[in-house]
Amino acid sequence: MTIQIEGYQGARSCTGGPTPGARNLMSWWLGAYGNRGARNLGIYNCRPVSGGSVLSVHAEGRAADLGTPVGNTWSWGVMDTLRLYSYELGLQCVIHNRSIWSSIAPDWRPYSGSSPHLDHGHVELLWWAANGGLTVDLLNQVMGGGTPPPPPPPPMPVLRLGSQGDAVRRLQETLNRWYPSLPPLVVDGDFGPRTDARVRYFQQRAGLVADGIVGPATWRALGF
Ligand SMILES: [Zn+2]
Repeated sequence: MTIQIEGYQGARSCTGGPTPGARNLMSWWLGAYGNRGARNLGIYNCRPVSGGSVLSVHAEGRAADLGTPVGNTWSWGVMDTLRLYSYELGLQCVIHNRSIWSSIAPDWRPYSGSSPHLDHGHVELLWWAANGGLTVDLLNQVMGGGTPPPPPPPPMPVLRLGSQGDAVRRLQETLNRWYPSLPPLVVDGDFGPRTDARVRYFQQRAGLVADGIVGPATWRALGF
């Protein structure tokens, strides 16, 4: 959780359309909060900042207007979370409910622009995020609560002596948690003889066939 400080990127020209990152932000928003009235109030717009002469970041398709029902109780928390994770997400400015945060300072400040932003959050992306760095996956991962539940994890693969990879790593970590008093297995993703012996040790105590093959029954017994 880090607030983006410095590096504000103003708009230079009208670029012709929304950026991939801003589209991703909008689709995450609609997916996560559509059932609470979230709406798409637009991304690309070749215009100056309302009431000013500076070009809006909307003109580069790097700002999304995340529509919110006026007077709701939840959008402020979401906007504040976007600010708190702005470094991870590549955001440089959020305006909502008469308040503005931008990367010139960490805190919210009163916003005195002509629109009070009661019906939407205006969210600006840094170029790396706009160019596709900000993905729906990243948003789901960083923003957590309020997002749709993730799909169920895929079933764990069957492992045995000679297996390799992340699932073996998880197996080794789990066995180490089961038996803190035994010498820990090296968590190297390599199902070698020591891991094999520890699996059989576990299986025997769990009332399973001690064959060293980690299939569905062994995974279940391990807590997966
Ligand atoms: Zn806007």
